[in-house]
Amino acid sequence: MDVKQLTIPELHQAYAKRELTVEAVTGAYLDSITHTDPTVRAFLTVLGEQAIQRAEVLDKQLAAGAKPAGLFGVPIAIKDNLCLAGTRTTAASKILEHYVAPYTATAVQRVLDAGAVVLGKTNLDEFAMGSSTENSAYQKTTNPWDVTRVPGGSSGGSAAAVSASEALVALGSDTGGSIRQPASLCGVVGLKPTYGRVSRHGVIALSSSLDQVGPLACTVSDARVLYETIAGADPLDATTVVHTDDPATGKGLMGLRVGYLEDADTTGMDPEVLAQVQKALKLLESAGAKIQPVKIDSVKLALALYYVIVTSEVSSNLARYDGIRYGVDMQPKPKETFLQYTTRIRSHGLGMEAQRRTLLGTYTLSKGYADRYYHRAHELQGVLERDFDAVFHDVDLLFGPTSPTVAFPLGEKFNDPLTMYLSDIFTVPANIANLPAISIPIGFAHHLPVGGQFIGPRFGENLVFRAALGLEAECGFANLRAGKAPLHQA
Ligand code: GLN
Repeated sequence: MDVKQLTIPELHQAYAKRELTVEAVTGAYLDSITHTDPTVRAFLTVLGEQAIQRAEVLDKQLAAGAKPAGLFGVPIAIKDNLCLAGTRTTAASKILEHYVAPYTATAVQRVLDAGAVVLGKTNLDEFAMGSSTENSAYQKTTNPWDVTRVPGGSSGGSAAAVSASEALVALGSDTGGSIRQPASLCGVVGLKPTYGRVSRHGVIALSSSLDQVGPLACTVSDARVLYETIAGADPLDATTVVHTDDPATGKGLMGLRVGYLEDADTTGMDPEVLAQVQKALKLLESAGAKIQPVKIDSVKLALALYYVIVTSEVSSNLARYDGIRYGVDMQPKPKETFLQYTTRIRSHGLGMEAQRRTLLGTYTLSKGYADRYYHRAHELQGVLERDFDAVFHDVDLLFGPTSPTVAFPLGEKFNDPLTMYLSDIFTVPANIANLPAISIPIGFAHHLPVGGQFIGPRFGENLVFRAALGLEAECGFANLRAGKAPLHQA
């Protein structure tokens, strides 16, 4: 038996029956990292010794009669923009090369409290800016299905690690699609929770008004276990909310009203990806869901609003990396002014995308322009929110593609930021409208995984999971791993 194929409930059963030890499972994943990561390059830091020590502690608890629950003995990878005390946390930026987190992010603390074993920290686009993980200052992660292609981004390390069986589950962060898009490109499940559902305490900020931490896993149920572990109010993040979930839980797809955007912009969309989405809609329908076309005019604004809001907040959030409090440790030169000093440190320590967004955001926040751009974008964000809310009177959920294409070749969009930004055309609206959204594998195109996305009403995570679980069963791609032949091709 390959222990790396076991889901969380299967693993727990094996622990409970004493068929497996946490140490053996942790060891199997660490071996997998040793063998696979030289080509996949998902990890920036591997915490092998710590993981084994932790596994030993958990095995003692098992021996003392502990019942495995939650994330007990579950090997997890953590995106390297989430702080873990005593561990290097880089956000894949050179400017944080030597930064050792003095505290632990709430989401990470919660997975630790639930018994998870942290295997290491995963690669990302620098400060989570990007859609391919090529913006990392350290290494380019590859797609485990085809190592000449990108894993998507910015949580590309986390998605690739799960897809390549280098971790059972992983944490990522999603500001405009960074969990769902790499999940789609790597053939795994990824959820962006409603804004305010998961604490951002200890998350290295990209865009504070949009960032959310969420799970990546090989099954919808495993993603749900991880989500439920990290969700909930946190006194350390005032934007988290105490909110009881929607009561409309129920089971199965029967009777669910699923809308699809009939005038969605499909320019640049791969027809084979579109065909998979249409096939999934048919599966939903034959399983008893009511499919209906819907219109949201303001959705076409989402990407533009996103790049105004994100660049503005980036310019503010990255201002702290001035070389004094944080940043690469460089001695000032004789007679160097403060401005010359910070310019030198930031030019050296920040990559092209971080510099590009800082420049744009400084402009959109400057006197006279803030009202025209940043504040205007927030006003229009309200329009988008209201339009989605109105649609959720007619349908329970929306379904559509996660990404317009399958994983693209490394380097293809790297020097073309505008094309890269379009990778998020289908994921960004859920962030702008503060809605929960999940991507699950629904098929294959060009022998590469295709993801489909459910978007639910605010705080409607239960509904989103219900629909995803139903479609997962219809499609038959639960527990998909790279290199495993898909159960059925198109
Ligand atoms: N790709 C988007 C960007 O570059 C989304 C990033 C994210 O969700 N962190 O900003």
